[in-house]
Amino acid sequence: MSRWKTIALPGWGRRDRAPQTAARPERVAEVRAAVADGVAAAGGVLARGRGRSYGDQAVNGTGRLILMERLDRILSFDEGTGIAVCEAGVTFADLMRVFLPKGWLVPVTPGTAFATLGGAVANDVHGKNHDRVGSFGDHTAWLRLLLPSGETLRAAPDENPDVFAATIGGCGLTGVILEVAVRLVRTPSRTMRVAERRIRDLDDFFAAFVAARDTATHSVGWIDALAQGGAMGRGILETGEIADHDPAPPVPPRPRRVPVEFPGFALTPLSVGLFNAVYRRRVPEGGRERAVPMERFFYPLDSLLDWNRIYGRRGFHQFQCVIPDADARAGVGRLLEAISAARAASFLAVLKTLGGEGRGMLSFPMRGYTLALDLPHGSGIPDLLARLERITLDHGGRIYLAKDSALSADGFAAMHPRLGDFRAVLSRLDPDGRLSSDMARRLRIREDAA
Ligand SMILES: Cc1cc2nc3c(=O)[nH]c(=O)nc-3n(C[C@H](O)[C@H](O)[C@H](O)COP(=O)(O)OP(=O)(O)OC[C@H]3O[C@@H](n4cnc5c(N)ncnc54)[C@H](O)[C@@H]3O)c2cc1C
Repeated sequence: MSRWKTIALPGWGRRDRAPQTAARPERVAEVRAAVADGVAAAGGVLARGRGRSYGDQAVNGTGRLILMERLDRILSFDEGTGIAVCEAGVTFADLMRVFLPKGWLVPVTPGTAFATLGGAVANDVHGKNHDRVGSFGDHTAWLRLLLPSGETLRAAPDENPDVFAATIGGCGLTGVILEVAVRLVRTPSRTMRVAERRIRDLDDFFAAFVAARDTATHSVGWIDALAQGGAMGRGILETGEIADHDPAPPVPPRPRRVPVEFPGFALTPLSVGLFNAVYRRRVPEGGRERAVPMERFFYPLDSLLDWNRIYGRRGFHQFQCVIPDADARAGVGRLLEAISAARAASFLAVLKTLGGEGRGMLSFPMRGYTLALDLPHGSGIPDLLARLERITLDHGGRIYLAKDSALSADGFAAMHPRLGDFRAVLSRLDPDGRLSSDMARRLRIREDAA
């Protein structure tokens, strides 16, 4: 019998803080027991990592949640192949702490080290180097899955390949991931050589990215999404290469905590616009180059713990989409126009390039440009999000489910040409629909979902 507790477990955007029923197992046998219990609950059961997805993807209001964070053991490491076999609750921070000093690096990492490997598989996450190395699924050698029936199976590109492709980016709906075998790569240092330059406007950004795609391994753009007219799209482009040695013993950054929930009125277009302008000016006119610890380059937001409290009690949404190369300039331009016209106070938006489709049936990436930004919740925001969905669809793009809280079921279906294949795998692995989430119900990911 599992120990269930009732606790508030919202997404990272802190929108829905209703209490949920959750168990926090420490051993695989306890996960099995929790699944056996959870499948009988009205809303079914779902695994949850560290809750770094923004919307309702790791929320299961009417059902049960299995918190995987204590299954955090690194089970083996093979120096010959670079394969680390880890329990699904191991985080990127754990991998960095254990393997960086030994000269090994996880080749794909999202912008927070607090994400677990189970969460990384379930969203097929990408980093700032997607053009070069693809997404997390491309470096997953195999994974072990616990099905609602209690059966476990191993999936890899050449072993149960359809289960593998459904689980990569599958939002936790194919089963509870127990183990992930990830292929690490050797790194000569723990330091990044980072170049930053100011960008005038959106055309300047696209020209800079076209060049960066050929020359830089890592790249990311920060955009002032409140800037309008000729200044629309202004920001900073950051590119990074792994240094061939550490200039000094690297000191990983020490995080600080946001002590209180900010009042909602603190975030106005004026205050956020000021922050954005100051942020841009910290890079000198002629640009700059620096050597920084990898953690600071990969996880700039992790230095401020609980930063999501800045958005106050009402919480916030994150919108992230990708638009294919051919339409990207037009599509991103329309998105930024809609955002700045709505005066939706957003800290810096992020613009990155993606290199191609992922291995997962519902993977987010496609070759193109991805724009991501936070929007504090407010009365006009649902309408704005609906407009952004429309623009994304008009330009052949896709919205990222890890960040989403507002996509429509029709929009979701239109963005995923392999949804039929995904549903076919689900109907085999979970014929009674016992794995579910608020997002799965909202998007009607299962054909028969209410
Ligand atoms: C500051 C910040 C920066 C980010 N930057 C990026 C980025 O650059 N690139 C990117 O791709 N993403 C990014 N993300 C999103 C983040 O990487 C994903 O949401 C990731 O899935 C979070 O992992 P988690 O362990 O917190 O998972 P959760 O949020 O807890 O869960 C996410 C999904 O994974 C499933 N899941 C988790 N564990 C398991 C398991 N063991 N078995 C089965 N299913 C499981 C859940 O059911 C859910 O569907 C960022 C998020 C934040 C907060």
